[in-house]
Amino acid sequence: MLELRPNCECCDANLPPDSDAARICTFEHTFCADCADARFDTACPDCGGGLVARPIRPESQLHRYPASLRRVHRGRSPSQPPRMDPGPPASWA
Ligand SMILES: [Zn+2]
Ligand SMILES: [Zn+2]
Repeated sequence: MLELRPNCECCDANLPPDSDAARICTFEHTFCADCADARFDTACPDCGGGLVARPIRPESQLHRYPASLRRVHRGRSPSQPPRMDPGPPASWA
C-alpha cells in the first residue's frame, strides 16, 4: 500500500491524498508535478526511475487506510533533527 506522503520531497509543496499533482517513483519518492516535470524531466532524482502520477485513494478508503503524515524532505526533516557532532572524547586530551 502506498504511504501517500504529504509533501514534495524537493520543494515541500503540500500534496494531499486527493492531489492530482503528486508524482511518485517505484520507491514512492514523492514530488509535485512542477518539480517532476520542470526540474527532473519525470525521472526520480533519488533512484533514477520514472515518476508517474500517484493514484488517488478514494475518500471512503482513507478512513481505513489513512495517508501518511510523515513529511519527507531532502536535507531537513522536523522529526529528525540534524545529528550533533559530539567531537572527540575529553579523554583524548
Ligand atoms: Zn515540488
Ligand atoms: Zn525514486
